[in-house]
Amino acid sequence: MRLKNAVVIGGSIAGMLAARVLAERFESVTIVETDQLPLQPEVRKGVPQSPQPHVLLTRGYRILEELFPGIGSELSAA
Ligand SMILES: Cc1cc2nc3c(=O)[nH]c(=O)nc-3n(C[C@H](O)[C@H](O)[C@H](O)COP(=O)(O)OP(=O)(O)OC[C@H]3O[C@@H](n4cnc5c(N)ncnc54)[C@H](O)[C@@H]3O)c2cc1C
Repeated sequence: MRLKNAVVIGGSIAGMLAARVLAERFESVTIVETDQLPLQPEVRKGVPQSPQPHVLLTRGYRILEELFPGIGSELSAA
């Protein structure tokens, strides 16, 4: 049985991934994000750590690839 609505607070990486997983169980998932999300990668107020270099560890990458097949190639190309 699919549940009705889920709400995720925060639309950064954890919120987006939570929404992706919840979408399997809920008819609709609403992400509430305080920032306007830019179309291009850029620093925004809600993620002040974003200018810092980040590393995606192997386990995280594998989970991402399970949830979004092909994302590794897309990220490499970008
Ligand atoms: C210097 C530095 C280096 C780092 N390096 C790494 C690394 O190499 N690898 C790694 O995995 N992690 C790294 N981290 C940690 C990483 O930045 C965080 O783990 C990650 O950003 C957390 O993601 P998140 O989606 O949980 O939160 P965030 O990315 O912080 O996102 C929170 C979201 O919630 C939104 N928000 C906040 N308040 C509200 C509200 N009231 N209502 C609605 N929306 C709201 C914000 O706008 C934002 O979009 C690093 C952190 C720092 C500071």
